[in-house]
Amino acid sequence: MQARLGLIGVVAALAGCASSTMPGTVGVTRSQFMIVPASEVDALALSGFSNQNQKARAAGKLVNSGAEYDRLERIAKRLQAQVPVFRADTKDWKWELALIDAPVLNATCAPGGKITFYTGLVRKLKLTDDEIAMVMGHEIAHALREHGRERMSEAKATGTVTTLAKVLAPDKALTVDLANKASYFLFSLPNSREHESEADTIGLELGARAGYDPRAAVLVWEKMAAASSGAGKAEFLSTHPSNETRIASLTAMQPRVAPLYAAANKK
Ligand SMILES: [Zn+2]
Repeated sequence: MQARLGLIGVVAALAGCASSTMPGTVGVTRSQFMIVPASEVDALALSGFSNQNQKARAAGKLVNSGAEYDRLERIAKRLQAQVPVFRADTKDWKWELALIDAPVLNATCAPGGKITFYTGLVRKLKLTDDEIAMVMGHEIAHALREHGRERMSEAKATGTVTTLAKVLAPDKALTVDLANKASYFLFSLPNSREHESEADTIGLELGARAGYDPRAAVLVWEKMAAASSGAGKAEFLSTHPSNETRIASLTAMQPRVAPLYAAANKK
């Protein structure tokens, strides 16, 4: 038993069971199980992001300029200035923003700081700057916490993705198939309640520090839920399940982030 516990300890140490972020004011400290190297996940994220943008560009749907793009970029820059509170290494991240003109209610942030927004989310929900910042902060928080890498690590440990290393192999067909599998973990698999709660908490602090009203986080989830109750479908909700617990926690966290918002530069 002693030996077995020792072995588990060694495996845990090798796997790097540590928190990917610093706690911030909100205090997220959960240890994470990471056996897939960050370099592999980042390479997959980058290729997924480029593929997405190439397709959008070919269809004439990739927006690189204009008032809508500038607005999102301004918000992204203010949030990015606050991320070192959670991770010092983000100074090496090559942040990018992709705005895709499609009637899709979705937004993502892939590992390494690759942010995607769809015009449908901003237009259909008539998002304010504060609300955009809360959604973007939430997505950035998933990337800071490396939730995709954590889920890929869990999948690798249970044998779901046994040959992940081959994703980057020269064999094209094999590469594509495995990349599809891996991108499922990064982009399509619904987040766990625990990951969602961490992203909400850290996103709220990022937004508040960047001078965006954290109360908007509650409003945006209410808008999202209302939009999906009708005929419309919110892609965002398939990966970010909304529920009363989430809205209640976001409301309960307000007193902790309100002083950060009060002290923040609002422009
Ligand atoms: Zn989320």
